Amino acid sequence: MSNKRQISKSVECMLWGQAAGRCEVCGRELYKDSAYGLSGNYAEKAHIIAVSDNGPRRLADLRDEEINDANNLMLLCAEHHKMIDDKEDHYLVDHLLGVKADHEERVRYLMSIPRENETQMVTYFSNIDMEISHHDANLYKQAVVNDSKLPKFNEPISLGATGPQQNMDAAYINQQVVSLELAFKQKAQPVLERGVGVSLFALAPQPLLIKLGTLLSDQYDSHPYQCHRTGEKWAWKRTSREVDYRINRPHQPNTTSKNIALILSLSASISHERVTAILPKTETPIYEISIAEPNFDFVESEAIADAFIKTTRSIMDEIRNMFPLCEAILLFPAMPNSLAVRFGMNYMFTSDLPVVIFNEHNGVFEETISIGENNGE
Ligand SMILES: [Zn+2]
Ligand SMILES: [Zn+2]
Repeated sequence: MSNKRQISKSVECMLWGQAAGRCEVCGRELYKDSAYGLSGNYAEKAHIIAVSDNGPRRLADLRDEEINDANNLMLLCAEHHKMIDDKEDHYLVDHLLGVKADHEERVRYLMSIPRENETQMVTYFSNIDMEISHHDANLYKQAVVNDSKLPKFNEPISLGATGPQQNMDAAYINQQVVSLELAFKQKAQPVLERGVGVSLFALAPQPLLIKLGTLLSDQYDSHPYQCHRTGEKWAWKRTSREVDYRINRPHQPNTTSKNIALILSLSASISHERVTAILPKTETPIYEISIAEPNFDFVESEAIADAFIKTTRSIMDEIRNMFPLCEAILLFPAMPNSLAVRFGMNYMFTSDLPVVIFNEHNGVFEETISIGENNGE
């Protein structure tokens, strides 16, 4: 009779494989303990239809060889083994077969997703308070899965600053650029160089987002997500809506100008007076890209961001061609977070004019960092 309880080694292996070593009810890993992570075999092989005549769910009848078959067994943690046996009237055969099938199908499905659909989640928040209030790996995953991609790991790589909320003045931004470059080089670059795509969740002052974009560059498969104030927060919306980007060009500009101002009035309107107030005394031609009603939430899809990049690219090229003596573009940005990163990604170090980035601080624009400042020297 003792032989009747015997589950063969091959059946046990099959069950472990099909369940991927996890409890088929709660999903917990059964090859280590839940408190300390010490490795060991914590699995119980639960019979759906019991071995003994008065055991759980014995109403249905199975032949002896079917009793100890993988089809009649579930890999469970002790807690859920006890649960299904104690409440056998509640956990009936069909229900348990369904739970088992669901779990095992999920294992097969996840392993069937091609590697190229995997993406590395990366976060960047410019101070620790922001990181804490925004950190929610489940929201990032939602956004990624919504794009039919699979997060490579459970937790994102964080490039974020570790310091507290600070005065975001030019000195702070210059100091953050140094730590961002270092964190990027140490944590993100090795991943990108292995050919893994990146899904980016970043909120920071504009110069830092643009800088991060230049590090990601467009040679890697990088996707910055937009932080929406409504809905699923980071997930792109299912919309075909388009945004009309408007270009304001300078009237009869001085084509010998050494500096050209570029205002991006997208998340907010930037008045020209505020820009001219800090420009050199000589007349600086001003370009502006804007939308009808600037706001934080209009970037509902990647296509809307793509259209922004197309517009920006044409203006950057136009400025270079129209102003042969131009030495730098003075950028006054007010962009939703994903566009700032895309602006940096799209910057071409080999051919674009250097960009000096101004940032609004306490209501005043101040010069912060430059990108491409050694171009063409
Ligand atoms: Zn369990
Ligand atoms: Zn049992």
